[in-house]
Amino acid sequence: MAVRKIVRLGHPALRSRSEAVTPEELASASLQELIDDLLATVVEAEGVGLAAPQVGVKLQIFVYESEPQTEGEPGRYEAVINPSVEPESEELEYDWEGCLSIPDLRGLVPRHPEVRLFGLDRHGAPIDRLLTGFTARVVQHEFDHLHGVIYLDRMRDLHSLTYEDEFEALLDEAEQAGESSAVG
Ligand SMILES: [Zn+2]
Repeated sequence: MAVRKIVRLGHPALRSRSEAVTPEELASASLQELIDDLLATVVEAEGVGLAAPQVGVKLQIFVYESEPQTEGEPGRYEAVINPSVEPESEELEYDWEGCLSIPDLRGLVPRHPEVRLFGLDRHGAPIDRLLTGFTARVVQHEFDHLHGVIYLDRMRDLHSLTYEDEFEALLDEAEQAGESSAVG
């Protein structure tokens, strides 16, 4: 297990469509190692999600925090292979997002508050989960990475785009210290 370098905006993998993973590839040692590395890298980066293109690999794989951390307990992460994400309704909610490949910035992004996540787990077993709120936002962000889309593309306007330290000052002012942004 190794922490890989997270590529930043400008790297072509972030603007490419990723390839689906075949069952043979999924069973291979190199792909299982990639999944281990994605898990190690997202934990090291203190992110809530990470997609393979963010380490320069154009394959349809992402990891996300499936069980958020609680006091004293680290979060749990799940890998999803060949995912699809279906919104449960047309509804959109705005909240703050950032991206490990676009360091230090935050912006308000509309996302569906409830989605169904389909795909395969790392052993090839089907995944079918109904996700809401913060976790639903994270998987929409990661899914976009597999199609060359970044959160800046999803912003309706750029007025809320802010540097993280300014954003924290804003939150302090509003006494919303309990809030945090999704970074993946
Ligand atoms: Zn991202």
